[in-house]
Amino acid sequence: MKKYNFNAGPSILPREVIEATAAACLDFNGIGLSLMEISHRSKDFQPVMDEAEAMMKELLDIPEGYKVLFLGGGASLEFCMIPYNFLEKKAAYLNTGVWSKKAIKEAKLFGEVVEVASSADKNFTYIPKGWTIPTDCDYFHITTNNTIYGTEIREDFDSPIPMIADMSSDILSRPIDVSKYACIYGGAQKNISMAGVTFVIIKEDALGKVSRQIPTMLDYRTHIEKGSMFNTPPVVPVYSALQTMKWVKAQGGVKEMERRALQRAKIVYDEIDRNKLFVGTVEPDARSVMNLCFVMKDEYKELEADFMAFATEKGMVGVKGHRSVGGFRASCYNAMSIEGCEALVACMKEFEKLH
Ligand SMILES: *Cc1c(COP(=O)(O)O)cnc(C)c1O
Repeated sequence: MKKYNFNAGPSILPREVIEATAAACLDFNGIGLSLMEISHRSKDFQPVMDEAEAMMKELLDIPEGYKVLFLGGGASLEFCMIPYNFLEKKAAYLNTGVWSKKAIKEAKLFGEVVEVASSADKNFTYIPKGWTIPTDCDYFHITTNNTIYGTEIREDFDSPIPMIADMSSDILSRPIDVSKYACIYGGAQKNISMAGVTFVIIKEDALGKVSRQIPTMLDYRTHIEKGSMFNTPPVVPVYSALQTMKWVKAQGGVKEMERRALQRAKIVYDEIDRNKLFVGTVEPDARSVMNLCFVMKDEYKELEADFMAFATEKGMVGVKGHRSVGGFRASCYNAMSIEGCEALVACMKEFEKLH
């Protein structure tokens, strides 16, 4: 039976990317050795790193003055590296869920944190509005896509202070105006690669403004200077990231990724809104096009486990909602097909008929 991968992360990748990565693990570029057993400084691997950086710059139309890094540690290490490198006295954070909270927790180790606004009062089911960015902070931090709650900020705010964004789960899903950010980072395992690599897009002249000593490995300048090769980078995940970026380009770039994301989301949200059994958990204007969250209406709550089993039987993988929301979450990253979304909708319709 065909399986449709709605996992939240690690998550679906284009089949071509998986095949190319698997092939490189067996025999890299026809050199008779695996990608896993050669030096990251070899003439065979260096072009992979160089091309990955160039490809990210091309896809996101990144202006001069920015560097693209591929590091270890995950987005979670960035939660600490950001304040280490940028927070002198005070930083502003928009609190839109679990990942924002984790970022805030780390920042508090380095200085004062101003929570500009929060949607905690309604279990993060909306994106707060009507707030202003304080001008006396070192930077303003946002999480553009809230993977767990299914809310998303799909615009690039104008910020009077350097803006920093965790884009772990929506990078490469729309064009972004990179010039509005001092830094954009994320774990690659949601929309770009397998787990193990973290992307960081960073404005070089935004660095060097804090007075503290920064440990070598946690200082972005180390990695900029060494082109992400200060220590051994996660070579296979970087290779896989490059394959995905090539795939995105071949499909028509991030504009096309956005068109598909909107189309997929419409298919699934329309059904959530139409189907008598289900209801969306997020305010309509804040709905993520990457992670689509829904639950059973109160009067059908007892059917939740049945629907999970039914959907699983039909080949839907990973549609169980995160424990802090419950219900269901269909993660529809770049590689998810329209056909996958239609299969999920067919499954929801069929289940409705049975009840
Ligand atoms: C998954 C996720 C993270 C955590 O990423 P790791 O690479 O596992 O540390 C952080 N932020 C967001 C928005 C995520 O979706």
